[in-house]
Amino acid sequence: MSTGNEGKMLLHACCAPCAEYPVSDLLSKSIRPDILYYNPNIHPKFEFERRRDQIVKLGQIYDLSCFYSDDFRMDDWLSKAWEGQYDSRCDMCYFIRMDYVARYAKEHGYDSFGTSLLVSPYQQHDKIASIANACAKKYGVDFAYYDWRPHFREGQAMAREHGLYRQKYCGCIYSLNDSEFKEKIISGFPDSWEASR
Ligand code: SF4
Repeated sequence: MSTGNEGKMLLHACCAPCAEYPVSDLLSKSIRPDILYYNPNIHPKFEFERRRDQIVKLGQIYDLSCFYSDDFRMDDWLSKAWEGQYDSRCDMCYFIRMDYVARYAKEHGYDSFGTSLLVSPYQQHDKIASIANACAKKYGVDFAYYDWRPHFREGQAMAREHGLYRQKYCGCIYSLNDSEFKEKIISGFPDSWEASR
């Protein structure tokens, strides 16, 4: 658990509804994090941009600085290049994001970083924490660990009240294909979505 000595903190936001509770919790502890959207795993491009725009909106709601990267990498997720290097596609997904965030934090003068991924009961919580800790050590910055999972529903309700878009799949094209809501999700995409993949 975090010691509360986050100093200047960067919060990686995987999406607005997951980031909402962590942001409010940190603010309640007098920690004002900057927000970073770095999620090349979110497919297709239309969805990547939609979640990014919702993060910008969340930053405006809480008057927090918000940064984002337009790195969109569907090919890395489609290819099998990760095999042999990572145990699973999700391991690769966590590592790519936590490595970038830890390096970004170090290069931009933050004392620590955290991630909204730790609010979701649907993510591999311990794996994320372990990878984030390793990345923190690699770049010489602190990882601010929080277990926000008990407040997942609360955060989703807050996001609903703020009118933030709440997606029904994790992010990558595989999770979209596996979603029981796939047809409904795709019916809400613009006609051009396949061309933007
Ligand atoms: S299911 Fe989620 S965590 Fe796993 S690779 Fe896809 S987007 Fe990443």
